[in-house]
Amino acid sequence: QKAEWAKLVNEPTVSNDGHHVELGANIGTPKDLKGVTEHGGEAVGLYRTEFLYMGRDELPTEDEQFSAYKAVLEGMEGKPVVVRTLDIGGDKELPYLNLPKEMNPFLGFRAIRLCLEEQDIFRTQLRALLRASIYGNLKIMFPMISTLNEFREAKAILSEEQAKLNETGVKTADNIEVGIMVEIPSTAVMADLFAKEVDFFSIGTNDLIQYTMAADRMNERVSYLYQPYNPAILRLVKMVIDAAHKEGKWAGMCGEMAGDEIAIPILLGLGLDEFSMSATSILKARSQISRLNHKEMKELANDVLQLHTNDEVIEAVKKVTEL
Ligand code: PEP
Ligand code: MG
Repeated sequence: QKAEWAKLVNEPTVSNDGHHVELGANIGTPKDLKGVTEHGGEAVGLYRTEFLYMGRDELPTEDEQFSAYKAVLEGMEGKPVVVRTLDIGGDKELPYLNLPKEMNPFLGFRAIRLCLEEQDIFRTQLRALLRASIYGNLKIMFPMISTLNEFREAKAILSEEQAKLNETGVKTADNIEVGIMVEIPSTAVMADLFAKEVDFFSIGTNDLIQYTMAADRMNERVSYLYQPYNPAILRLVKMVIDAAHKEGKWAGMCGEMAGDEIAIPILLGLGLDEFSMSATSILKARSQISRLNHKEMKELANDVLQLHTNDEVIEAVKKVTEL
């Protein structure tokens, strides 16, 4: 099986009836690029920049960040690289920020909420990204967006920093796509309106499932409620993909679900454009997709949206695919 997969390293990702999708990798540091290339990643679908900020005593400088972003963009040789701006808070703490303890960190002051408030941190990161943008195909993604105003504010700050850099003679790419993570139910529900303003969506199912089901993704006692195939989740995913396509935008997924063999047939059927997963899952997913029929998966996706439970969906997928 591994030998079969290895043959697919330099192949595109295509269903058996010719439908193309893109398989990207989730990375945390420039060191992860080696694995992306070895496993045939067509993109970096999620670069989690938190690691630059963690395990140290102070914020990373603009130049440190610039070097990391440049390394990733150059390493991918013009293939798309989606960099997510700082998603700190929740389970990921930065002791040196001295933020007050919160009752519900996962519902608290984190990610874009923190960045819009602590703008020095945010602007430093955006400048580093903008300066690095000329070295590859950069796309910038904001995490934990829950309202249109958050996106508008973040994008305005990005444009301001870009204008300031350009005024002082610093070159930046002029075609940088700016998108959002869809990981909060309010944003999935409003996807039709977001789609008019963003360049792309990437669905963060790790959090979207936790917030939709109100079940902490780290809490064993409620893990039975953490149901990726619950039709409630699948309907939200469909809304997001359809909303993107209606406005001519692309929709990806960078939560764990994107590399899951039960989810892949459904996501293919729903029309997901980009799947971003751990690099080691890419070849298996490419092989699976090459054996699936897009037209049949569209029917499967339609059918499972009408089912009642997570388990019914699993059963339906197994019946139609070879799993
Ligand atoms: C997600 O929420 O699905 C996601 C990809 O982000 P993280 O796992 O870093 O929260
Ligand atoms: Mg998340």
